Amino acid sequence: MKRFLKTADIIGYGRSLLTDPDIANKVENGECIRECLNCNKGCVDAIQSRRYLSCVLNDENGDEETIFIQPCTETKNIAIVGASLAGLEAARVAYKRGHTVTVFEKSNRLGGQINIDSVPPRKMKSYVLFNTMKNSCPIK
Ligand code: SF4
Repeated sequence: MKRFLKTADIIGYGRSLLTDPDIANKVENGECIRECLNCNKGCVDAIQSRRYLSCVLNDENGDEETIFIQPCTETKNIAIVGASLAGLEAARVAYKRGHTVTVFEKSNRLGGQINIDSVPPRKMKSYVLFNTMKNSCPIK
């Protein structure tokens, strides 16, 4: 992808840009990209229902000037219990705000029920989402 960005004059994105508007910068910096799930829930369904265009994976979508992760004023040690998607997202946001985060997980596998959800045919995208979230977390 990085090589492609350096040689192309123009690159067009569709839904991927709703999911992660920073794709080009992230590729340049070697950061993890949040991939579109092709679920159509926040974007295509919304357009067809004449609702506000959004993305289920991007809370800031369409409100970038008012909804964004702000640095905390007082750093705290935060414990997250459970490394499901919700736990990992909470850890990611808390870390980006500047807190020190520790995630506790009772099993030997991160992801919680996504490990079950991603097993049926055509559900592999769930696991892609989980990998993106896992790779976005500073897990040591
Ligand atoms: S709502 Fe689903 S299909 Fe639409 S941009 Fe977001 S992840 Fe992709």
